[in-house]
Parts: sequence; C-alpha cells; structure tokens
Amino acid sequence: MCGVVGIYGHPEAANLVYLGLHALQHRGQESAGIATSDGRQLVLHRGMGHVHDVFSSEQLARLPGHLGIGHVRYSTAGGSFLKNAQPVAVDYARGSLAIAHNGNLTNAEDLREQLESRGSIFQSSSDTEVIVHLVAMSSQRQHEDRLAEALAQVQGAYSLVSLTNDMLVAARDPLGIRPLALGVLRGETDTWVVASESSSFDLIGAEHVRELDPGEMLVIGPGGMESRRPFAPRPRHLCIFEYVYFARPDSTVAGVSVYAARKALGRALAEEHPVEADLVIPVPDSGVPATIGYAERSGIPFEMGLVRSHYVGRTFIEPQQSIRHFGVRLKLNPVAAALAGKRVVVVDDSIVRGTTSRKIVKMLRDAGAKEVHLRISSPPTQWPCYYGIDTPTRSELIASSHTVEQINQYVTSDSLRFLTLERLIEAVEAAGAPPAGGEAAPRANGHRTLPIAGGPVGRGYCHACWSGEYPIPFVPSHRQRQLRLLDA
Ligand code: AMP
Repeated sequence: MCGVVGIYGHPEAANLVYLGLHALQHRGQESAGIATSDGRQLVLHRGMGHVHDVFSSEQLARLPGHLGIGHVRYSTAGGSFLKNAQPVAVDYARGSLAIAHNGNLTNAEDLREQLESRGSIFQSSSDTEVIVHLVAMSSQRQHEDRLAEALAQVQGAYSLVSLTNDMLVAARDPLGIRPLALGVLRGETDTWVVASESSSFDLIGAEHVRELDPGEMLVIGPGGMESRRPFAPRPRHLCIFEYVYFARPDSTVAGVSVYAARKALGRALAEEHPVEADLVIPVPDSGVPATIGYAERSGIPFEMGLVRSHYVGRTFIEPQQSIRHFGVRLKLNPVAAALAGKRVVVVDDSIVRGTTSRKIVKMLRDAGAKEVHLRISSPPTQWPCYYGIDTPTRSELIASSHTVEQINQYVTSDSLRFLTLERLIEAVEAAGAPPAGGEAAPRANGHRTLPIAGGPVGRGYCHACWSGEYPIPFVPSHRQRQLRLLDA
C-alpha cells in the first residue's frame, strides 16, 4: 500500500511530484518523500505524515531540478519509522541513486540475509533497500542494466521508479501485480510522468498515455525514452483488489475505470444477492459506487444513511489496534432521519476482521433501522496478501475461520452475502470491455488513449486474498527456515 510518482523534463519537477503524490494520498499516509536532481546532484526530503505535512513551499524550493521521484507509504514490510520512509537514496561508487517502490518482495528476507552475510549494512527494514544493495553490487556498467540485473533477482510485486542524476527509470514486475501508468504533460518540450494511478495525471494536467506492461522497464534520460523488456513474458496477475477498494474511483487501471468497475460490482451483487428492502446505503466513501450499482439494478432507492467525517484518516490504515477500535465512531455517523423504521441494505467493499461491520450494524439499529442486510462487493477475505496490500495475519481474518452464516451472526446483520469471485471478475471485465458495436470503451475523465506500445496483455488477475491462489510463492529466509524447523 504505497504510491509512486516520477517526473522527467520539467523545471518544477518537485512541485509536480508533490501534486502527483497528493492524488495518491489514499495509497499511504504514514510517510512521504521526494528526491529530485538537476542533472548534477540528487536531493532528498522525507518525513512522517501526509504529503502536505511533510512538504512546505520552502521545502519544495530546496528540491531543484527537472527530474524527480516521490513516494507515499503505508508500511506493509518494515515498521513505521522515518528511516523506512522512501525514496531510499544512496551515494555509491557509481554515483547517486534513489528508489521508490510500491509492492512487497517475497524473497526480500532471504536476499537480505545473503547480502548481510557478504558484508552489506542495511539502514532500514524496508524491502526496497534490498534492491538498492543489489544495484550497487551489480557488475553492469549502465544504471538501467544494473537495475535490471537487480530486479532479476527479486521476486514479488513491485512498481517502482528510480532516479539517478540524469535518468528516470520506471519498472513493473513481470506479473504486473501493482499498477503503474505513463502520462505526458504537453509543452514546448514534453514532460514524462509515471504514477501508480491516473488520478495523478488529472491533478497535474497530464494526458494518460498507457499502462506500463508487466515486466516492462521505461528508461527516460537525455537521449529520450526507451521501453525495455528485460524479463521473460509471464501472464499478467494484476491485483483485482485495486478495483474493489484500493485505487481511487476516478482512476483508470489497465484501461478500466475504477468507478465503472465498482458500479458493475454493485449491479452484479444486486443480481446475485437480492433482498427486499426500503433503501440501500453505502459505507462511505469506498462503498459508494457499488451502492449506486446495487440501487440501479435492484430499483431500491439510494440514500446516504451514514455520513463520513473526512477529518480522520482511514481507520484501518492506522496500525495501532487501540486506535482502530474507536475509529469507526469517529469516522461514521448514522442519519436517523433516513433510517428510522426502514429495512436497509448496506453495501461495503470488504470484510476483513469484521469489527467495522459489527459496529456499523449496531449504529444503524440504534438509529432506528428495522432490518439491516449487509452486501459485500467482494468475496470473503480469507488469505493475507504478500504483495503489498496490508491485510492482517490469517488468524485475524474473520472469514478464514468463520462461515458466512457465522460472520452474519458475529456482525449481527439480518442477512449477509458476498459477491462471488466469478461474478467479480466478470464485472471488472465487463466494465472495461468495448460496448457492443466494437468501439473502444471511453476512458475515465475523457483521457485520450495513445497507442499501447507494449501491445495488449492477458486479462489475468491476482485474487489470492479470496482464493488462496498465490501466483508467487513466499520465500522464507534461512533464519525463518531454521525457526520453522525448530517449531516442528
Ligand atoms: P474490518 O473491520 O477489519 O472488517 O474492516 C473492513 C473495512 O476496512 C471495510 O469497510 C473496507 O472498506 C476496509 N478495508 C478493507 N481492506 C482494507 C485494507 N487493506 N486497508 C484499509 N482498509 C481496508
């Protein structure tokens, strides 16, 4: 759960990276950082907190140059400390290097042990630093070749941007698990923009050019832009949870509007799990588009039965258990005038631990709702994510040990239904499919679509959190293997 931005070819690179990060704030709120270069030296600033807390205009003015990268972070690997904030920047024998990374590496611990046994000293516990060490140790001459050699050794999910004094390189893992897109800001000379989501392009007025293909590396430097394919092609496994919850609804991911996908999920949910009710309400904000789809397909009126305060962060994103518990009350308030005496359908995108749903059902009943039916626009989350979405351990996932009926009893709803995985995939595909007649689907926000240089990729998704089908195995380190042996 992180967001990355890269800018090449603009005199105010730092300001553009800053704005790009603003539009990715939902992807991580723990820390933010920007590294820029004026062609001669690399400058870095990082801090804990939201983008606007970390950077003042004075701070941005101290980040000169025409190329830069930025990062917003939520810690999925490594703790929540400043030393784990990104970009990670180093000076080494070949010059300066900064890297910002979204995703989790599945063999980071193993690689780290190997590197440490050869004398590498790590400054942080984030898996991104492993890539930096591998780049530094590479025997290749050119930076892009060194990075490719490093990435060939890592496994897992990464969408990353890297910066040297005069070059921006963007790369996506061979399965394309996390999104990464290319945009262009037209001007006297074009500015290239790389970002986790197209919401960044909208904010800085850039055009959405295309997604990076899985396994693609884009090298942008004084000589122009070059697309490379250093890794053997593999079937795409884009994280489908990006459509369900994580990405912003105004983003387009892999040619599919996230908003359209969420509405389609709501329509599918209404078809799969209808219920007699007086009104359908979302758990705002993430449940809103699916609820619109549910209302549209079921004919049940849409109401805002819960109002969200926007002045608290997402509660789940706050890692301390004690804070999460009062978070729901802080964040959501029921609207008694809309709910009193009504049979209510509540649409949310997922149930993780079940604590949020339980509190919401209680709040709605206290506010006078006669019946509360929960409809979830994804399947039960049974498996942890190893590729960069923060999910708790398996034992904390309520669906890993409870049937749907048991969850229904725990959250005290009158009925509870989840969208099936087949309908979920169908709905996302339908949202991106060309309408009958063969014309390409309009892109969200009227983005003009330039030709996809990399060619089409397969429509594969990672859905391990629901199916347990992990496309990349987790590699335990030597130490972890020994501990397991001792356990056994
Ligand atoms: P829980 O109380 O653990 O069941 O949390 C469920 C709520 O958390 C739902 O309303 C989701 O919108 C939200 N949610 C689901 N997955 C995540 C995640 N990985 N990070 C933050 N929030 C999430």
